Amino acid sequence: MTLSKFYMDGMILARKEKWRYGQALFNLLLSVRPELAESLRGTDMDPFYLGGPADDFDRWDRFATHIEKEWYKERLSTCVSCQIETPKAYLKKVEAFGVKGLVCQDAPACQARSVVQRALTRS
Ligand SMILES: [Zn+2]
Repeated sequence: MTLSKFYMDGMILARKEKWRYGQALFNLLLSVRPELAESLRGTDMDPFYLGGPADDFDRWDRFATHIEKEWYKERLSTCVSCQIETPKAYLKKVEAFGVKGLVCQDAPACQARSVVQRALTRS
C-alpha cells in the first residue's frame, strides 16, 4: 500500500464509520502496519484523538513525519544501476541482457532506464 492510499483510505474509513480522521488513521494503521501503530500508541505523535491537523498541528506533524520516515523502511531495495536505496514499490525486476535485479522504474535521474531500454529494444 502506498502512503497516499493509506491517507485516502483513512479518509474514507473516517466518513464511513463516523470516526475522527486521526482515529481512522490509527485503526487503519493497526491493521496494515501493526508494529508501526504500536510504536506511536500513547506517544506525543498518536493521532487517535485528533479530528485533523487543525486540532493539534504539532502532534499531527510529528505523526505524519514519523509515518513518512517509517513507511517504506522495510521495503527498501537497492537499484542495481544507480545504487540508490528506493522503496520496492518504485523498482521493477529486470532479468535480461546481463542486467539482473531491481532497477528504478520511473526515475528520470536513474541511468538504468536508458541502459535497460536500449538493451530491450535491441532484441
Ligand atoms: Zn536507479
